[in-house]
Amino acid sequence: MTLQLDSDGHLRHLLTLEGLPKETLCRLLDRAGQIRDAALGRAHKRNSLLGTTICTLFFEPSTRTRSSFHIAAQRLSADVINFDASTSSARKGETALDTLKNLEAMGVRGFIVRHPEDGAAEALAMQAGEGTTVINAGDGRSAHPTQGLLDALTLRQAKGADFSKLKVLIVGDVKHSRVARSDLHALRTLGTGEIRVCGPASLLPDDGTLEGCATGDDFDAMLEGVDAVMMLRLQRERMEEGLVASLDDYHARYGLTAGRLRRAAGDAVVLHPGPINRGVEITDEVADGPQSLVLRQVSNGVAIRMAVLESLLS
Ligand code: ASP
Repeated sequence: MTLQLDSDGHLRHLLTLEGLPKETLCRLLDRAGQIRDAALGRAHKRNSLLGTTICTLFFEPSTRTRSSFHIAAQRLSADVINFDASTSSARKGETALDTLKNLEAMGVRGFIVRHPEDGAAEALAMQAGEGTTVINAGDGRSAHPTQGLLDALTLRQAKGADFSKLKVLIVGDVKHSRVARSDLHALRTLGTGEIRVCGPASLLPDDGTLEGCATGDDFDAMLEGVDAVMMLRLQRERMEEGLVASLDDYHARYGLTAGRLRRAAGDAVVLHPGPINRGVEITDEVADGPQSLVLRQVSNGVAIRMAVLESLLS
C-alpha cells in the first residue's frame, strides 16, 4: 500500500498493516510503550497536537475504538469532534466523502474513519486534501490496523520481543473479522514462529488470507501447547444465515473454557478485541481469569492510538 507512505517512507495515512515495514511497526510499538503513563492519565497531557482538530467519523457502532481515539487525541491536546452517522446529515443521504470534505473545509486535519464497507477508509484517503490524514478504525471485514498494533503490543509485553519463539492461535469467525486480518499482518511482520487458525470451515476464508498458517476445525487439537490464544467475536451483523448451526453448538465446539485452556502452554495468555459475547466464544471464567489480557488490550489501545496520532499528525 503506497498511498499510506509518502515518498520518504513516512506514514501519511494508516489504512492497513499489510506491507507496513517492520521498522515502522516496531517504532509505533516502542513509542506506545514510552508514553504509557500519559496514555493512562498518570502523567501530564502532552502538547504534540495542540491546535490540531481531529474528527472521529464513525458509520458503525463502537465503544473501545472511538473512546480510546478520543482520549488519545485529548491526551495529546488536540481538539476532537465526534461525528455520529445516526445523528447527522448522513441520515439524509450525505455521502462519507461529502461529509469529510465539509469537515475538512472547517479545518479538521485528521479523520478517524469506521465504515461497514471494505476499502472505505482508503477511498476517503485517495480523495482527501493535501494536509489531511485518514486513519482506518475498521472498514468492513478488511482491516483494523490500530487493533492489530495494540494486540501486537500486548503480546510483546507478555511474551517478549522475539516472536519467532511463539505459537499463536487465532480462533473463530476469521472470515468476517478485520481484527484477524490486521493481527495476521502484524504477526507475520514480527516473524511469529507458528500461526494457527481454527474455526468451523464455514468461517475460515479461502481467499489467501490464511496463507502460511496451520488451519483446522478441531479446537482442542489446535490449542495444544500454544503461547497465546486470540479469540474473535462472532460477527453476526456481517454473516449470512446458517453459517453456524446455533450459538450453543458454536460454544460447544469453539467456546474457550477453563478446561480447554489447560491444553495450551501453562503460561498462555488470552486476548479478545471486544465486544465479548460472553458464554459464546469465551466463558466468564476465562474472560475475567488470570490468563486474560482483555483489559490490558484496552489500556494499550489508548497508548497505541496516541503513538499513531502523534506520528501521523504532529
Ligand atoms: N471491535 C472490533 C471491531 O470493530 C472487534 C469486533 O467488533 O468484533 O472490529
